[in-house]
Amino acid sequence: MTGRTHDAAALTALIGATILYPPQTLTLATALIALLANQIGGIAPDIDQPTAPFWRNLPAEGFFGKIFDKLLGGHRFLTHSLIGAAILAWLTKLLLQFLHPIMPHIDITIVWYAFVIGVASHLVMDTFTKEGVPWLLPIPFKFGFPPVKSLRITTGKFVEAVIIFPGLILLDIYLLAEHYHALHAFIRSHLGA
Ligand SMILES: [Zn+2]
Repeated sequence: MTGRTHDAAALTALIGATILYPPQTLTLATALIALLANQIGGIAPDIDQPTAPFWRNLPAEGFFGKIFDKLLGGHRFLTHSLIGAAILAWLTKLLLQFLHPIMPHIDITIVWYAFVIGVASHLVMDTFTKEGVPWLLPIPFKFGFPPVKSLRITTGKFVEAVIIFPGLILLDIYLLAEHYHALHAFIRSHLGA
C-alpha cells in the first residue's frame, strides 16, 4: 500500500474506534496530537522497507533506508509482525511517558491508542496486498487475504488508487457525516464555534 492509503486507513480506523469507544473526556490538544500519532503509526511499520513512503518523506532517504535495510532485513520484516508492532507500541509508550512532563495536559493514553490503531491498520491493509505480511515472525510465513495471491492487491496500482483509497475517504466522510452532531458538539465546546 502507498503512504496515502495507509494514512487514510489509519484515519478510518481511528474514526471507527472513536465511534465505538468514545473517550470520556477529550481535549482539543489531545485530539490533535492523537491524530498526528495515528498518522505516524499508520506509516511507521514501513521503516523496515528502505523504498517505502516512510523513507521517501525523509531528506536523506537513500542513506537511512539502506542502513535500516541492513538492520531489519529489507522487505516487510520485523515491524510487519505482531512482535514488531508490540515493540513499536512499547517504544512509543516510553517516548510518550518521557514527553509527558513537557505536555502535562495531553492524555498520553489516548495518544498511545491512536498510534497503536494506526500501526494495526497498516498491518491489516498490507495483508490485502500480493506480498502479504509476516504476522507471526519469527515464523517466516507471509499471510495474505484472500489466501489466493492473484486475488490480492498490487501496491500503487489500479485497485488501490481507484477503489481502496477513494473508498476509505468516502467512508471517512460518511462516518463523520453520520456522527455530525457529536463532532459539531465537540468542536463547539472547544472552539466556541
Ligand atoms: Zn507496509
